[in-house]
Amino acid sequence: MAHDSRKAELLSWVKFNAGVLKTCTLFCTGTTGRLIRETLSSVIEDGTMPEVNCLLSGPLGGDFEIGAMIAEGKIDMLVFFCDNLIMQGHQNDVMGLVRLASLYNVPFATNRSTADFIISSPLFKSEEYERIIPSCIESYKNRKLK
Ligand code: PGA
Repeated sequence: MAHDSRKAELLSWVKFNAGVLKTCTLFCTGTTGRLIRETLSSVIEDGTMPEVNCLLSGPLGGDFEIGAMIAEGKIDMLVFFCDNLIMQGHQNDVMGLVRLASLYNVPFATNRSTADFIISSPLFKSEEYERIIPSCIESYKNRKLK
């Protein structure tokens, strides 16, 4: 997902990494997803288009949908190019999503070089690597209340 001012940057990254991304299942906020689908269809010519699931647009609830998927363990990597210069109308949603990605130990890129480092890591394709869910989550679920 990307805020409007950074969508072009994300699409350029998607184009560059189309070969790896076509092996993934993608979940995107609405507008970003539509543009990613168009970009991937323009570069993938061998019929191996990946599943690109477009959720709601970010400001209309899409950030929450991605956040819920993180909490449900359905997201292996988050790429979110957010606008760092302008406060968003849905800034609270953005902050909530960042918090959940951090809490659930999800590899999370907010800029292009981090996204490149993650996607090119041997761990990205590893079948054995298992993301550790921080123990504080289980502790929180089982906390004692007076
Ligand atoms: P969009 O949402 O992909 O629908 O533009 C992104 C966002 O602003 O969170």
